[in-house]
Amino acid sequence: MGYDIERFVGYVNEGLLCCICQDVLENPLQAPCEHAFCSTCIHGWLVHHHICPEDRQSLDVSVLWPLFRYMKNDLNQLQIQCRNREHGCNMVCSLESIELHEWTCINMELFPLSSHGAHITCEFCNFELSKLKSFFLDTTQYFHLY
Ligand SMILES: [Zn+2]
Ligand SMILES: [Zn+2]
Ligand SMILES: [Zn+2]
Repeated sequence: MGYDIERFVGYVNEGLLCCICQDVLENPLQAPCEHAFCSTCIHGWLVHHHICPEDRQSLDVSVLWPLFRYMKNDLNQLQIQCRNREHGCNMVCSLESIELHEWTCINMELFPLSSHGAHITCEFCNFELSKLKSFFLDTTQYFHLY
């Protein structure tokens, strides 16, 4: 399965979508007919089919190759939101670096400061800040939780 297109900021070229799951390509592979798929999607498909799901030309796992370099570059540059957005992480970065971010972000726990007695407000707008603690990095960040 690819990356949910809802997580991307800005325009995503149709050519960077998987023909099977319709999400943004994850570990993409390309067929000789130039259709592109997530690695897991096309491998799952080819277990029971021997054609391209898009144009029905014959297709075998041995002829799949990595995505063209220019498409791969486009893909890597897409801006994606952190999967922990609903838990308060506002990180947006390139697809290329999101995995590294999420790996550290997964270990974070968010809690309102007031529940721990402390009370810190934003120096710019006086909004009460929340505290984000990363157990993995042993760092603490403060930010707005709306
Ligand atoms: Zn897919
Ligand atoms: Zn095709
Ligand atoms: Zn995050």
